Amino acid sequence: MILATTFDQLAQLIEGQLSASNPDGHRFNVVIDASTISTDSRVLKPGQLFVALKGPQFDGAHFIDQAIELKALGAIVTQGSLTAELKRSADEHQFPVIEVGNTLTALTQLAELNRAKFTYPVVAVTGSSGKTSVKEMLSAVLGQKQLAFATPGNLNNAIGVPLSVLKLNQQHRIAVLELGASGIGEILHTVSLVRPDIGIITNAGTAHLGEFGGYNNIVSAKGEMIEGVTEGGVIILNYDDPAFEIWCERAATRHIRIVSFSAKGNDCASIRAKNISTTAQGTVFDIELDSESGSIELDVAGYHNVENALAVTAAALKLGMKLDEVQQGLNGYQGVKGRLQRIECGNLSVIDDSYNANPESIKAALSVLSQCAGYRIAVLGDMAELGADAPELHHSVGQFAAEHSIDYVFSSGQFSTSVLQGVLDGAGCGEAFTTKTELIGALLPRLSEQASKGQVTVLVKGSRSSRMEDIVETITQRK
Ligand code: ATP
Ligand code: MG
Repeated sequence: MILATTFDQLAQLIEGQLSASNPDGHRFNVVIDASTISTDSRVLKPGQLFVALKGPQFDGAHFIDQAIELKALGAIVTQGSLTAELKRSADEHQFPVIEVGNTLTALTQLAELNRAKFTYPVVAVTGSSGKTSVKEMLSAVLGQKQLAFATPGNLNNAIGVPLSVLKLNQQHRIAVLELGASGIGEILHTVSLVRPDIGIITNAGTAHLGEFGGYNNIVSAKGEMIEGVTEGGVIILNYDDPAFEIWCERAATRHIRIVSFSAKGNDCASIRAKNISTTAQGTVFDIELDSESGSIELDVAGYHNVENALAVTAAALKLGMKLDEVQQGLNGYQGVKGRLQRIECGNLSVIDDSYNANPESIKAALSVLSQCAGYRIAVLGDMAELGADAPELHHSVGQFAAEHSIDYVFSSGQFSTSVLQGVLDGAGCGEAFTTKTELIGALLPRLSEQASKGQVTVLVKGSRSSRMEDIVETITQRK
Protein backbone atom coordinates (compact mmCIF):
# COMPACT_ATOMS: atom_id res chain seq x y z
CA MET A 1 0.00 0.00 0.00
CA ILE A 2 1.18 3.57 -0.58
CA LEU A 3 3.19 4.87 2.36
CA ALA A 4 4.31 8.24 1.00
CA THR A 5 4.35 10.26 -2.19
CA THR A 6 7.62 12.13 -1.65
CA PHE A 7 10.94 11.25 -0.07
CA ASP A 8 10.50 14.24 2.26
CA GLN A 9 7.33 12.67 3.59
CA LEU A 10 8.98 9.29 3.91
CA ALA A 11 11.88 10.83 5.86
CA GLN A 12 9.43 12.42 8.26
CA LEU A 13 7.60 9.16 8.84
CA ILE A 14 10.76 7.43 9.97
CA GLU A 15 12.37 10.45 11.62
CA GLY A 16 15.22 10.39 9.13
CA GLN A 17 17.41 12.91 7.37
CA LEU A 18 16.99 13.15 3.60
CA SER A 19 20.19 13.64 1.59
CA ALA A 20 20.89 17.28 0.75
CA SER A 21 21.10 16.87 -3.00
CA ASN A 22 17.59 17.57 -4.28
CA PRO A 23 18.11 20.16 -6.98
CA ASP A 24 14.74 20.05 -8.71
CA GLY A 25 12.68 17.58 -6.77
CA HIS A 26 13.14 15.18 -9.69
CA ARG A 27 13.12 11.53 -8.49
CA PHE A 28 12.29 12.71 -4.96
CA ASN A 29 8.58 13.07 -5.66
CA VAL A 30 7.52 9.50 -6.24
CA VAL A 31 4.98 7.06 -4.93
CA ILE A 32 6.54 4.84 -2.30
CA ASP A 33 4.66 1.59 -2.09
CA ALA A 34 5.28 -0.78 0.84
CA SER A 35 5.50 -3.80 -1.44
CA THR A 36 8.59 -2.38 -3.17
CA ILE A 37 10.70 -2.35 0.00
CA SER A 38 13.64 -4.75 -0.08
CA THR A 39 16.61 -5.34 2.20
CA ASP A 40 18.63 -7.40 -0.27
CA SER A 41 20.81 -5.26 -2.54
CA ARG A 42 21.62 -8.27 -4.74
CA VAL A 43 18.09 -8.81 -6.01
CA LEU A 44 16.79 -5.24 -6.15
CA LYS A 45 14.51 -4.49 -9.08
CA PRO A 46 14.16 -1.06 -10.69
CA GLY A 47 11.84 1.12 -8.63
CA GLN A 48 12.36 -0.69 -5.34
CA LEU A 49 13.28 1.06 -2.12
CA PHE A 50 16.42 -0.36 -0.53
CA VAL A 51 16.54 -0.53 3.27
CA ALA A 52 20.17 -1.16 4.18
CA LEU A 53 20.14 -3.24 7.35
CA LYS A 54 23.18 -3.18 9.59
CA GLY A 55 24.38 -6.17 11.60
CA PRO A 56 27.45 -6.88 13.70
CA GLN A 57 29.32 -8.22 10.64
CA PHE A 58 27.88 -6.20 7.77
CA ASP A 59 26.28 -2.93 6.73
CA GLY A 60 23.99 -2.94 3.71
CA ALA A 61 24.85 0.74 3.16
CA HIS A 62 28.16 -0.38 1.68
CA PHE A 63 26.19 -1.82 -1.26
CA ILE A 64 24.43 1.41 -2.15
CA ASP A 65 26.33 1.55 -5.44
CA GLN A 66 24.69 -1.72 -6.40
CA ALA A 67 21.28 -0.23 -5.54
CA ILE A 68 22.02 2.77 -7.75
CA GLU A 69 23.15 0.51 -10.58
CA LEU A 70 20.03 -1.65 -10.29
CA LYS A 71 17.92 1.52 -10.54
CA ALA A 72 16.44 1.38 -7.08
CA LEU A 73 14.13 4.22 -6.09
CA GLY A 74 16.27 5.29 -3.17
CA ALA A 75 17.73 3.97 0.06
CA ILE A 76 17.42 4.14 3.81
CA VAL A 77 20.77 3.78 5.56
CA THR A 78 22.23 4.05 9.05
CA GLN A 79 23.46 7.50 9.94
CA GLY A 80 27.16 7.90 9.21
CA SER A 81 27.40 4.58 7.30
CA LEU A 82 28.16 6.05 3.90
CA THR A 83 31.75 6.79 3.01
CA ALA A 84 32.43 10.18 1.35
CA GLU A 85 32.86 8.33 -1.92
CA LEU A 86 29.49 6.54 -1.71
CA LYS A 87 27.82 9.78 -0.68
CA ARG A 88 29.27 11.50 -3.71
CA SER A 89 28.10 8.67 -5.93
CA ALA A 90 24.52 8.94 -4.57
CA ASP A 91 24.56 12.72 -5.07
CA GLU A 92 25.88 12.42 -8.61
CA HIS A 93 23.05 10.07 -9.50
CA GLN A 94 20.50 12.19 -7.64
CA PHE A 95 19.77 9.03 -5.70
CA PRO A 96 17.62 9.81 -2.64
CA VAL A 97 19.12 8.58 0.61
CA ILE A 98 17.50 8.83 4.03
CA GLU A 99 19.75 8.46 7.04
CA VAL A 100 18.20 7.06 10.23
CA GLY A 101 19.48 6.02 13.65
CA ASN A 102 18.50 2.38 13.10
CA THR A 103 17.41 0.91 9.79
CA LEU A 104 15.62 -2.08 11.34
CA THR A 105 13.53 0.35 13.41
CA ALA A 106 12.73 2.26 10.20
CA LEU A 107 11.74 -1.00 8.47
CA THR A 108 9.47 -1.84 11.41
CA GLN A 109 7.92 1.66 11.39
CA LEU A 110 7.11 1.33 7.70
CA ALA A 111 5.59 -2.10 8.32
CA GLU A 112 3.49 -0.59 11.12
CA LEU A 113 2.17 2.01 8.70
CA ASN A 114 1.27 -0.70 6.19
CA ARG A 115 -0.39 -2.76 8.92
CA ALA A 116 -2.45 0.27 9.96
CA LYS A 117 -3.77 0.57 6.40
CA PHE A 118 -4.87 -3.08 6.31
CA THR A 119 -8.47 -3.24 7.44
CA TYR A 120 -9.13 -6.96 7.06
CA PRO A 121 -8.62 -9.66 9.71
CA VAL A 122 -5.11 -10.64 10.73
CA VAL A 123 -4.20 -14.00 12.27
CA ALA A 124 -0.84 -14.60 13.94
CA VAL A 125 0.60 -18.01 14.76
CA THR A 126 3.31 -18.82 17.27
CA GLY A 127 4.44 -21.90 19.21
CA SER A 128 7.48 -24.14 19.46
CA SER A 129 6.44 -26.38 16.55
CA GLY A 130 3.84 -26.25 13.84
CA LYS A 131 3.79 -22.50 13.06
CA THR A 132 4.50 -22.89 9.34
CA SER A 133 2.27 -25.97 9.12
CA VAL A 134 -0.67 -24.13 10.70
CA LYS A 135 -0.03 -20.99 8.65
CA GLU A 136 0.01 -22.94 5.38
CA MET A 137 -2.96 -25.12 6.32
CA LEU A 138 -5.00 -22.11 7.41
CA SER A 139 -4.20 -20.04 4.35
CA ALA A 140 -5.09 -23.03 2.13
CA VAL A 141 -8.45 -23.38 3.89
CA LEU A 142 -9.17 -19.63 3.80
CA GLY A 143 -7.82 -19.35 0.27
CA GLN A 144 -10.70 -21.45 -1.06
CA LYS A 145 -12.98 -18.45 -0.66
CA GLN A 146 -10.81 -15.34 -0.69
CA LEU A 147 -7.31 -14.08 -1.36
CA ALA A 148 -5.37 -14.87 1.79
CA PHE A 149 -1.89 -13.52 2.43
CA ALA A 150 0.51 -15.83 4.27
CA THR A 151 4.02 -15.16 5.54
CA PRO A 152 6.32 -16.15 2.68
CA GLY A 153 8.39 -19.19 3.71
CA ASN A 154 9.58 -18.86 7.25
CA LEU A 155 10.03 -15.09 7.58
CA ASN A 156 9.08 -15.11 11.25
CA ASN A 157 11.71 -13.07 13.12
CA ALA A 158 12.33 -9.39 13.88
CA ILE A 159 13.35 -8.77 10.27
CA GLY A 160 11.09 -11.31 8.56
CA VAL A 161 7.85 -10.18 10.21
CA PRO A 162 8.13 -6.53 9.09
CA LEU A 163 9.15 -7.72 5.62
CA SER A 164 6.07 -9.95 5.50
CA VAL A 165 3.75 -7.20 6.74
CA LEU A 166 5.09 -4.86 4.07
CA LYS A 167 3.84 -7.30 1.41
CA LEU A 168 0.22 -6.96 2.55
CA ASN A 169 -1.95 -5.10 0.05
CA GLN A 170 -5.53 -4.05 -0.63
CA GLN A 171 -6.26 -7.19 -2.64
CA HIS A 172 -5.78 -9.45 0.35
CA ARG A 173 -8.86 -10.15 2.38
CA ILE A 174 -7.06 -11.80 5.25
CA ALA A 175 -3.51 -12.19 6.53
CA VAL A 176 -1.91 -15.15 8.28
CA LEU A 177 1.46 -14.32 9.79
CA GLU A 178 4.00 -16.56 11.48
CA LEU A 179 5.82 -15.25 14.55
CA GLY A 180 8.90 -17.10 15.77
CA ALA A 181 11.21 -16.51 18.69
CA SER A 182 14.42 -17.74 20.16
CA GLY A 183 14.22 -15.60 23.29
CA ILE A 184 11.97 -13.71 25.69
CA GLY A 185 10.49 -10.45 24.36
CA GLU A 186 10.76 -11.30 20.65
CA ILE A 187 7.09 -12.25 20.18
CA LEU A 188 6.04 -9.22 22.23
CA HIS A 189 7.94 -7.08 19.74
CA THR A 190 6.56 -8.68 16.56
CA VAL A 191 3.03 -9.15 17.85
CA SER A 192 2.77 -5.46 18.67
CA LEU A 193 3.58 -4.76 15.04
CA VAL A 194 1.16 -7.39 13.71
CA ARG A 195 -1.73 -6.65 16.13
CA PRO A 196 -3.65 -9.82 15.27
CA ASP A 197 -7.41 -10.15 15.64
CA ILE A 198 -6.81 -13.84 16.22
CA GLY A 199 -3.71 -15.28 17.88
CA ILE A 200 -2.82 -18.97 17.87
CA ILE A 201 -0.33 -20.65 20.19
CA THR A 202 0.27 -24.17 18.89
CA ASN A 203 2.30 -25.47 21.84
CA ALA A 204 5.28 -24.87 24.11
CA GLY A 205 7.99 -27.46 23.71
CA THR A 206 11.72 -27.49 24.06
CA ALA A 207 12.75 -25.87 20.76
CA HIS A 208 15.56 -23.32 21.40
CA LEU A 209 15.60 -24.44 25.06
CA GLY A 210 19.17 -23.24 25.54
CA GLU A 211 18.58 -19.75 24.19
CA PHE A 212 15.39 -19.27 26.19
CA GLY A 213 17.04 -20.35 29.45
CA GLY A 214 14.45 -22.94 30.52
CA TYR A 215 10.96 -24.27 29.84
CA ASN A 216 9.14 -21.63 31.93
CA ASN A 217 10.66 -18.91 29.80
CA ILE A 218 9.44 -20.68 26.67
CA VAL A 219 5.88 -20.80 28.06
CA SER A 220 6.09 -17.14 28.94
CA ALA A 221 7.58 -16.15 25.59
CA LYS A 222 4.85 -17.95 23.60
CA GLY A 223 2.30 -16.35 25.94
CA GLU A 224 3.45 -12.92 24.77
CA MET A 225 1.14 -13.52 21.81
CA ILE A 226 -1.78 -12.91 24.21
CA GLU A 227 -0.56 -9.37 24.91
CA GLY A 228 -0.70 -8.41 21.24
CA VAL A 229 -4.18 -9.68 20.30
CA THR A 230 -6.44 -6.68 19.68
CA GLU A 231 -9.19 -5.81 22.19
CA GLY A 232 -12.19 -8.08 21.67
CA GLY A 233 -10.04 -10.52 19.68
CA VAL A 234 -9.52 -14.23 20.15
CA ILE A 235 -6.66 -16.37 21.40
CA ILE A 236 -6.67 -19.99 20.26
CA LEU A 237 -4.96 -22.30 22.73
CA ASN A 238 -4.04 -25.98 22.85
CA TYR A 239 -6.07 -27.47 25.70
CA ASP A 240 -3.73 -30.48 25.90
CA ASP A 241 -0.58 -28.42 26.36
CA PRO A 242 0.74 -28.40 29.95
CA ALA A 243 0.97 -24.59 29.72
CA PHE A 244 -2.74 -24.17 28.84
CA GLU A 245 -3.81 -22.94 32.31
CA ILE A 246 -0.93 -20.46 32.50
CA TRP A 247 -1.92 -18.96 29.14
CA CYS A 248 -5.59 -18.86 30.20
CA GLU A 249 -4.64 -16.89 33.31
CA ARG A 250 -2.69 -14.46 31.18
CA ALA A 251 -5.59 -14.12 28.72
CA ALA A 252 -7.96 -13.39 31.62
CA THR A 253 -6.10 -10.12 32.19
CA ARG A 254 -7.11 -8.97 28.69
CA HIS A 255 -10.45 -8.35 27.00
CA ILE A 256 -10.09 -11.25 24.63
CA ARG A 257 -11.87 -14.56 24.20
CA ILE A 258 -10.28 -17.98 24.53
CA VAL A 259 -11.04 -20.77 22.08
CA SER A 260 -9.44 -24.07 22.97
CA PHE A 261 -8.80 -27.24 20.98
CA SER A 262 -8.03 -30.74 22.13
CA ALA A 263 -6.64 -33.49 19.91
CA LYS A 264 -7.13 -35.78 22.91
CA GLY A 265 -10.86 -35.14 22.59
CA ASN A 266 -11.24 -33.53 26.01
CA ASP A 267 -14.88 -32.42 26.32
CA CYS A 268 -13.90 -29.23 28.16
CA ALA A 269 -12.25 -27.88 25.00
CA SER A 270 -14.25 -25.84 22.46
CA ILE A 271 -13.11 -27.95 19.47
CA ARG A 272 -12.25 -31.62 19.85
CA ALA A 273 -10.86 -34.43 17.74
CA LYS A 274 -12.45 -37.84 18.20
CA ASN A 275 -11.86 -41.27 16.70
CA ILE A 276 -8.41 -40.47 15.33
CA SER A 277 -6.91 -43.12 13.13
CA THR A 278 -3.48 -42.32 11.79
CA THR A 279 -1.97 -44.21 8.91
CA ALA A 280 1.36 -43.75 7.17
CA GLN A 281 -0.42 -41.86 4.38
CA GLY A 282 -2.64 -39.60 6.39
CA THR A 283 -5.00 -39.13 9.26
CA VAL A 284 -8.72 -39.61 9.59
CA PHE A 285 -10.68 -38.16 12.50
CA ASP A 286 -13.90 -36.50 13.57
CA ILE A 287 -14.09 -32.86 14.53
CA GLU A 288 -16.59 -32.13 17.24
CA LEU A 289 -17.93 -28.71 18.19
CA ASP A 290 -20.65 -28.09 20.77
CA SER A 291 -23.31 -27.77 18.09
CA GLU A 292 -22.09 -29.84 15.13
CA SER A 293 -19.50 -32.33 14.00
CA GLY A 294 -17.83 -33.57 10.82
CA SER A 295 -15.17 -35.94 9.61
CA ILE A 296 -11.76 -35.00 8.22
CA GLU A 297 -9.37 -36.93 5.99
CA LEU A 298 -5.98 -35.28 6.08
CA ASP A 299 -3.46 -36.28 3.44
CA VAL A 300 -0.67 -35.38 5.85
CA ALA A 301 0.44 -37.90 8.44
CA GLY A 302 1.08 -37.48 12.13
CA TYR A 303 -0.92 -36.90 15.27
CA HIS A 304 0.55 -33.38 15.47
CA ASN A 305 -1.23 -32.51 12.24
CA VAL A 306 -4.53 -33.29 13.95
CA GLU A 307 -3.58 -30.61 16.51
CA ASN A 308 -2.67 -28.25 13.68
CA ALA A 309 -5.95 -28.95 11.87
CA LEU A 310 -7.92 -28.20 15.04
CA ALA A 311 -6.14 -24.87 15.50
CA VAL A 312 -6.87 -24.09 11.84
CA THR A 313 -10.54 -25.05 12.26
CA ALA A 314 -10.85 -22.82 15.31
CA ALA A 315 -9.46 -19.84 13.41
CA ALA A 316 -11.40 -20.47 10.19
CA LEU A 317 -14.71 -20.77 12.08
CA LYS A 318 -13.98 -17.53 13.94
CA LEU A 319 -13.38 -15.91 10.56
CA GLY A 320 -16.87 -16.85 9.46
CA MET A 321 -16.31 -20.06 7.53
CA LYS A 322 -18.76 -22.94 7.82
CA LEU A 323 -17.63 -26.30 9.13
CA ASP A 324 -18.25 -28.01 5.78
CA GLU A 325 -16.05 -25.42 4.03
CA VAL A 326 -13.29 -26.02 6.56
CA GLN A 327 -13.65 -29.78 6.04
CA GLN A 328 -13.31 -29.34 2.30
CA GLY A 329 -10.18 -27.23 2.69
CA LEU A 330 -8.54 -29.63 5.14
CA ASN A 331 -9.39 -32.69 3.06
CA GLY A 332 -7.54 -31.27 0.07
CA TYR A 333 -4.49 -30.02 1.97
CA GLN A 334 -1.21 -31.52 0.73
CA GLY A 335 1.33 -30.42 3.33
CA VAL A 336 4.54 -28.37 3.21
CA LYS A 337 7.84 -29.46 1.65
CA GLY A 338 10.29 -31.06 4.07
CA ARG A 339 7.61 -31.61 6.71
CA LEU A 340 6.67 -35.27 6.71
CA GLN A 341 6.50 -35.39 2.92
CA ARG A 342 6.37 -38.91 1.50
CA ILE A 343 8.46 -39.77 -1.54
CA GLU A 344 7.90 -43.19 -3.09
CA CYS A 345 10.80 -44.94 -4.87
CA GLY A 346 9.66 -48.50 -5.63
CA ASN A 347 10.05 -50.64 -2.55
CA LEU A 348 11.48 -47.70 -0.70
CA SER A 349 9.43 -44.92 0.88
CA VAL A 350 11.20 -41.84 2.14
CA ILE A 351 9.57 -39.62 4.73
CA ASP A 352 11.23 -36.26 4.25
CA ASP A 353 10.92 -34.33 7.50
CA SER A 354 14.27 -32.68 7.00
CA TYR A 355 13.12 -29.10 7.34
CA ASN A 356 13.82 -28.84 11.07
CA ALA A 357 13.78 -30.78 14.32
CA ASN A 358 13.33 -30.47 18.02
CA PRO A 359 12.66 -33.28 20.53
CA GLU A 360 8.86 -33.09 20.19
CA SER A 361 8.79 -32.97 16.41
CA ILE A 362 11.29 -35.85 16.12
CA LYS A 363 9.11 -37.97 18.40
CA ALA A 364 6.03 -36.99 16.38
CA ALA A 365 7.79 -38.10 13.17
CA LEU A 366 9.08 -41.32 14.77
CA SER A 367 5.49 -42.12 15.76
CA VAL A 368 4.49 -41.80 12.11
CA LEU A 369 7.38 -44.04 11.05
CA SER A 370 6.42 -46.61 13.66
CA GLN A 371 3.09 -47.07 11.88
CA CYS A 372 4.65 -47.87 8.51
CA ALA A 373 4.68 -51.44 7.30
CA GLY A 374 7.96 -53.25 6.60
CA TYR A 375 11.48 -52.36 7.70
CA ARG A 376 11.75 -48.95 9.41
CA ILE A 377 14.89 -46.84 9.40
CA ALA A 378 15.34 -43.46 11.10
CA VAL A 379 18.14 -41.20 9.88
CA LEU A 380 18.61 -38.47 12.47
CA GLY A 381 20.85 -35.41 12.43
CA ASP A 382 21.60 -33.14 15.37
CA MET A 383 18.93 -31.02 17.00
CA ALA A 384 20.47 -27.57 17.42
CA GLU A 385 20.07 -24.94 20.13
CA LEU A 386 19.23 -27.21 23.06
CA GLY A 387 21.89 -25.86 25.42
CA ALA A 388 23.22 -27.98 28.27
CA ASP A 389 20.36 -30.49 27.98
CA ALA A 390 21.35 -31.43 24.42
CA PRO A 391 23.03 -34.82 25.18
CA GLU A 392 20.13 -35.95 27.39
CA LEU A 393 17.47 -34.84 24.87
CA HIS A 394 19.30 -36.62 22.03
CA HIS A 395 19.49 -39.72 24.22
CA SER A 396 15.73 -39.55 24.86
CA VAL A 397 15.04 -39.39 21.12
CA GLY A 398 17.19 -42.47 20.48
CA GLN A 399 15.46 -44.38 23.24
CA PHE A 400 12.03 -43.29 21.95
CA ALA A 401 12.91 -44.64 18.49
CA ALA A 402 13.98 -48.00 19.89
CA GLU A 403 10.85 -48.24 22.03
CA HIS A 404 8.61 -47.44 19.04
CA SER A 405 9.59 -50.36 16.84
CA ILE A 406 12.14 -48.55 14.68
CA ASP A 407 14.35 -51.28 13.27
CA TYR A 408 17.53 -49.29 12.76
CA VAL A 409 18.67 -45.75 13.67
CA PHE A 410 21.47 -43.97 11.81
CA SER A 411 22.61 -40.79 13.55
CA SER A 412 25.12 -38.17 12.49
CA GLY A 413 26.60 -35.06 14.01
CA GLN A 414 27.94 -33.83 17.33
CA PHE A 415 25.31 -35.65 19.40
CA SER A 416 25.11 -38.82 17.30
CA THR A 417 26.63 -40.95 20.06
CA SER A 418 24.02 -39.69 22.56
CA VAL A 419 21.28 -40.76 20.13
CA LEU A 420 22.95 -44.15 19.70
CA GLN A 421 23.29 -44.64 23.46
CA GLY A 422 19.55 -43.96 23.79
CA VAL A 423 18.84 -46.51 21.05
CA LEU A 424 20.97 -49.12 22.79
CA ASP A 425 19.41 -48.33 26.19
CA GLY A 426 16.02 -48.91 24.58
CA ALA A 427 17.27 -52.30 23.34
CA GLY A 428 17.33 -51.14 19.69
CA CYS A 429 19.92 -51.23 16.91
CA GLY A 430 21.79 -48.39 15.28
CA GLU A 431 25.05 -46.72 14.34
CA ALA A 432 26.50 -43.25 14.97
CA PHE A 433 28.61 -41.20 12.55
CA THR A 434 30.40 -37.89 12.80
CA THR A 435 29.53 -36.79 9.28
CA LYS A 436 26.63 -37.26 6.87
CA THR A 437 29.04 -38.60 4.24
CA GLU A 438 30.07 -41.44 6.53
CA LEU A 439 26.43 -42.06 7.37
CA ILE A 440 25.43 -42.27 3.71
CA GLY A 441 28.26 -44.75 3.12
CA ALA A 442 26.66 -47.13 5.62
CA LEU A 443 23.03 -46.30 4.86
CA LEU A 444 22.95 -47.01 1.11
CA PRO A 445 24.05 -50.70 1.27
CA ARG A 446 21.56 -51.34 4.07
CA LEU A 447 18.77 -49.75 2.05
CA SER A 448 19.58 -51.89 -0.97
CA GLU A 449 19.77 -55.03 1.14
CA GLN A 450 16.45 -54.40 2.93
CA ALA A 451 14.64 -53.17 -0.21
CA SER A 452 15.56 -56.44 -1.95
CA LYS A 453 13.64 -58.27 0.78
CA GLY A 454 10.53 -56.10 0.94
CA GLN A 455 9.08 -52.70 1.84
CA VAL A 456 11.41 -50.21 3.58
CA THR A 457 10.55 -46.79 4.97
CA VAL A 458 13.23 -44.25 5.85
CA LEU A 459 12.51 -41.17 7.94
CA VAL A 460 15.04 -38.35 7.50
CA LYS A 461 15.08 -35.58 10.08
CA GLY A 462 17.37 -33.08 11.78
CA SER A 463 17.70 -29.39 12.57
CA ARG A 464 17.95 -26.83 9.80
CA SER A 465 21.69 -26.53 10.38
CA SER A 466 22.12 -30.31 9.81
CA ARG A 467 20.80 -29.95 6.23
CA MET A 468 19.43 -33.48 6.20
CA GLU A 469 17.75 -32.80 2.85
CA ASP A 470 21.14 -33.75 1.35
CA ILE A 471 20.46 -37.29 2.52
CA VAL A 472 16.93 -37.25 1.09
CA GLU A 473 18.40 -36.20 -2.23
CA THR A 474 21.08 -38.89 -2.19
CA ILE A 475 18.58 -41.63 -1.33
CA THR A 476 15.95 -40.59 -3.83
CA GLN A 477 18.46 -40.17 -6.66
CA ARG A 478 20.30 -43.46 -6.07
CA LYS A 479 20.02 -45.99 -8.85
P1 ATP B 1 10.27 -23.08 12.83
O1 ATP B 1 10.46 -22.66 14.26
O2 ATP B 1 11.48 -23.71 12.24
O3 ATP B 1 9.70 -21.99 11.98
P2 ATP B 1 7.61 -24.20 12.81
O4 ATP B 1 7.07 -23.93 14.18
O5 ATP B 1 7.20 -23.30 11.72
O6 ATP B 1 9.20 -24.31 12.86
P3 ATP B 1 6.86 -26.39 11.10
O7 ATP B 1 7.80 -25.93 10.07
O8 ATP B 1 5.42 -26.33 10.83
O9 ATP B 1 7.17 -25.69 12.49
O10 ATP B 1 7.23 -27.87 11.49
C1 ATP B 1 8.53 -28.15 11.99
C2 ATP B 1 8.59 -29.56 12.42
O11 ATP B 1 7.66 -29.81 13.49
C3 ATP B 1 8.19 -30.49 11.30
O12 ATP B 1 9.12 -31.50 11.32
C4 ATP B 1 6.81 -30.99 11.63
O13 ATP B 1 6.67 -32.31 11.25
C5 ATP B 1 6.73 -30.85 13.15
N1 ATP B 1 5.42 -30.36 13.64
C6 ATP B 1 4.51 -29.67 12.94
N2 ATP B 1 3.45 -29.37 13.71
C7 ATP B 1 3.70 -29.86 14.96
C8 ATP B 1 2.98 -29.86 16.20
N3 ATP B 1 1.79 -29.28 16.30
N4 ATP B 1 3.57 -30.48 17.26
C9 ATP B 1 4.78 -31.08 17.15
N5 ATP B 1 5.50 -31.12 16.00
C10 ATP B 1 4.98 -30.51 14.91
MG1 MG C 1 8.28 -22.01 10.58
